[in-house]
Amino acid sequence: MKKMLRMYAALGFLLASTSWADAPHGGRILESDGIRAEFFVNEAREVELRFLGDEHEVESVGERRASAIVVHASERTELSFEAKGDALVSTAALPDGDGYTIVVRIATREGEKPRNFRIAYHAEACDECNRPEYACICEHSEHGGH
Ligand SMILES: [Zn+2]
Repeated sequence: MKKMLRMYAALGFLLASTSWADAPHGGRILESDGIRAEFFVNEAREVELRFLGDEHEVESVGERRASAIVVHASERTELSFEAKGDALVSTAALPDGDGYTIVVRIATREGEKPRNFRIAYHAEACDECNRPEYACICEHSEHGGH
């Protein structure tokens, strides 16, 4: 019960905040120059990218496209993405384990120079916020409110 109450308290905090922590699936928000996307790893270890509007509502994929490079044990693996519902989803799963780097490249349309987002991928849950470490909001709370 106590645990439950703590959870509600944490939820209340998240709902009250308008920071970039408002990711629809509890993933990590990637923001740069006309792009605001949520990076989320699903249970099949596929990367899901959802594109967000000003209120962090999910927008349709439209013409946006993405690719990613996984740098794992000094090997570089390219991931492609295809539209599935409201997300761009990687066509292959991430390598086993974590502690590696993922560079996600997103463009708003074909032919546009993509923006690169570097993510240190750590999958274990954070003790404080219970989110996966790649999406942890604790150490970033000072950036809240944009
Ligand atoms: Zn945390």
